[in-house]
Amino acid sequence: MKQHVVVAECRDGKLRRVSLEAIAAARQCMAAGDKLAVLLLAGGATDAAEATRLACRGPDEVIVIDHPILSRYTPETYAAALVAGAAALNQPPDAWWLGHTAIGRDLAPRLAARLEAGQISDAISAAAGQGGSVRFTRALHAGKALEQRALLPGAPWIVTVRPNNFPPAPEMGALTPAAPIRSAAFTPPQTRIVVRDVVRRVSAAVDLTEARVIVAGGRGVRSAEGFAPLAALASLLGGAVGASRGACDAGYCDYALQIGQTGKTVTPDLYIACGISGAVQHLAGMSRSRVIVAINKDPDAPIFGVADYGIVGDLFEVVPAIIGELGNNNA
Ligand SMILES: Cc1cc2nc3c(=O)[nH]c(=O)nc-3n(C[C@H](O)[C@H](O)[C@H](O)COP(=O)(O)OP(=O)(O)OC[C@H]3O[C@@H](n4cnc5c(N)ncnc54)[C@H](O)[C@@H]3O)c2cc1C
Repeated sequence: MKQHVVVAECRDGKLRRVSLEAIAAARQCMAAGDKLAVLLLAGGATDAAEATRLACRGPDEVIVIDHPILSRYTPETYAAALVAGAAALNQPPDAWWLGHTAIGRDLAPRLAARLEAGQISDAISAAAGQGGSVRFTRALHAGKALEQRALLPGAPWIVTVRPNNFPPAPEMGALTPAAPIRSAAFTPPQTRIVVRDVVRRVSAAVDLTEARVIVAGGRGVRSAEGFAPLAALASLLGGAVGASRGACDAGYCDYALQIGQTGKTVTPDLYIACGISGAVQHLAGMSRSRVIVAINKDPDAPIFGVADYGIVGDLFEVVPAIIGELGNNNA
């Protein structure tokens, strides 16, 4: 019987969707009799309240570690909090599941070193294998190749799952009681890192990685001001603005908006690419979007190869026309 642990992350007092996706990934790899606990690291009452959303998604228990020091991420305190949470379980964890977020990427190797555990990063699929092993798929070379790895039973392991690649664990029906929620004691360690302040360079109304609609701009947008119609369209659709690295490198927008191999991975319901050529490194971050619309002056742009709908035209004419059309329909 294995003990699985999902590490749940909050941002701005709200549970991140990838935590629900990690629960789904863990559940699909569990064998009969395995147990699933969720560890929620909370930096205050608002974070801690998210435990109720976790409890009805199928874990056996939710353990909350609530301490003001956890309101800001530092690897030392978070790793110590996870170890404290694990100590509150009936048996030591065999498998840890984290989101492949900025925090997960930083925390997983530290935890792996501390627990002498094996680690797999950025899994895009997971399935139970033979003899208690678990098989993971990872994308390599900007998604041009896929690699399969298996983790064997007998030693603890840690995996980070790529956001937007597993369906979020659904709420269990009313007939299934919610899992018990309990608190674990945590005394913060002496740390060498003190975070005094967090300054956000971009404050988007909608988190790019969780947005259901993204309007992304590339070098074809030509300037920071050129992003204004894209932002207007995104706002009209309740979505977020993204960008290619070309646009970021040109200084038109912040790197926080970059989508692709070295940026964020997104899978919105609707991705509108404006003035983006469709380099393979960009496609690596968005080609799994449900519906892709490409607007480009060049009919041979590679982005049309992955687009469901293509509009050959000047984005500065097409985007305002779409906004006008949506405005008319909303009127
Ligand atoms: C190791 C590595 C990692 C990388 N990681 C990333 C990554 O994470 N994300 C990423 O995006 N890139 C990444 N890149 C860069 C990538 O190779 C491309 O250079 C980049 O994606 C190009 O950005 P772009 O499509 O905006 O610009 P361009 O390739 O210059 O394309 C601009 C497009 O705009 C069109 N256009 C111009 N004006 C208009 C107009 N008025 N209306 C409509 N269309 C117009 C043009 O026809 C053209 O197709 C990476 C590269 C490397 C080597």
